[in-house]
Amino acid sequence: MNRRNYNVSELRRLDVAHHLPAQSSYRLQQQMGGSRIITRAEGSTVWDAEGNAILDGMAGLWCVDIGYGRAELADVAREQMLELPYYNSFFRTATAPAVELAAKLASLHGGALQHIFFNTSGSESNDTVLRLVRYYWALKGQPERSIIISRHNAYHGSTVAGASLGGMSFMHVQGGLPIPGIEHIMQPYHFGDGFGEDPEEFALRAADALEERILAIGADKVAAFIGEPVQGAGGVIIPHRAYWQRIEAICRKYGVLIVSDEVICGFGRLGRWFGYQHFGFTPDIVSMAKGLSSGYLPISATAVSHEIVETLRATDDDFVHGYTYSGHPVAAAVALRNIEIMEREALVDRVADDAGPHFAEAIGALADHPLVGEVRTLGLIGAIELVAEKGTNRRHGKGGAAGPVVRDACIARGLMVRAIRDTIVMCPPFVITHEEIDRMAAIIRAALDEAVGTLAHLAGL
Ligand code: PMP
Repeated sequence: MNRRNYNVSELRRLDVAHHLPAQSSYRLQQQMGGSRIITRAEGSTVWDAEGNAILDGMAGLWCVDIGYGRAELADVAREQMLELPYYNSFFRTATAPAVELAAKLASLHGGALQHIFFNTSGSESNDTVLRLVRYYWALKGQPERSIIISRHNAYHGSTVAGASLGGMSFMHVQGGLPIPGIEHIMQPYHFGDGFGEDPEEFALRAADALEERILAIGADKVAAFIGEPVQGAGGVIIPHRAYWQRIEAICRKYGVLIVSDEVICGFGRLGRWFGYQHFGFTPDIVSMAKGLSSGYLPISATAVSHEIVETLRATDDDFVHGYTYSGHPVAAAVALRNIEIMEREALVDRVADDAGPHFAEAIGALADHPLVGEVRTLGLIGAIELVAEKGTNRRHGKGGAAGPVVRDACIARGLMVRAIRDTIVMCPPFVITHEEIDRMAAIIRAALDEAVGTLAHLAGL
């Protein structure tokens, strides 16, 4: 299937010798004799260098929303590279694609979110958020309003600010994080933390933790609350609708800015353009990446409310923040065309009305499996909770062992999914067909059946 001939063993040797992959164990990389080399892709399928076809149930890393193999995006990138491959936005200069993309994003948001700051990754967007909200409050004459509240098990990136804003304690351990001025409250993880509790009551309890923390800190010290509408990397945690409504009411009551991290949820993943539209709240700032360009080129964007920008405009001072590649013209041109394709092919509607419901039905049917404690989906994102005893949320052994077993069994059968401890997560491209969704479900069921035997020795531990 490959267009080029790859020397797989040589690539894997070079991988171990020279390449440090992201978020990886370098011991495991070495023990495995190198990474799996992915060489090409089309639609919702990727191929490795050995020629194995793998149905990509993760859209790359939650990002290839319009699917692989879009020649149109390559054409746009080529044209833009020949016309103007690069220019910056530091010196009161801008490029046409950056300005046009900003206007397009403003129109997709509507309302007060009319101003766009560009970055290269989701992490960088959240770095922008951190500096922007603190600068905003300083300009408002309230520099002590500097604390940002996030949630345990949130994912906001891997830079110093991103990982600090995130609530993953195993990430904080490395590098002395979080940086000062960031606090974490409980997450709205009903299956894990509210099992057996009424879902709405639990959601309100989780949201009220924000008010308790604001009062404990002092409202005059809290700058912003940041959250993913649906936590992705934390295990596809879909809160009850009541959660975000209550969060919004609390933030408004105390004048705390709301930041919606839409790096995964944005651009249709939940069946609306943005996750906050699904949950019915109005953020002051929105982080976007991934689906913005469907991963074809690295670009991210931070949407900012009119009120915040008015405050920034009350001074001649520069906002001394930004990157060489802020508003990169090639990435912006590709992102614009990516959004155009989404509109032309009505892909957001497809998530809401066609692929999403089919996904909910096919994956939902796995709930009857003895290893499955809960299945949740929304749009084209989903999670399967693996348990040792049906009807409970009890895990195999100490927890964390079952997920990788089921994940590896899926990959061996030609389906890419991820395991977040004992939660199998899925996030397929918006173009996935019904047949491919059915195949996903069948492969997961076969993997679960196989795992019953493998995990039996752990069930009673
Ligand atoms: N925020 C969220 C919600 C994410 O899911 C991610 C990436 N998974 C990030 C931020 C960080 O994005 P990046 O990896 O592009 O820096």
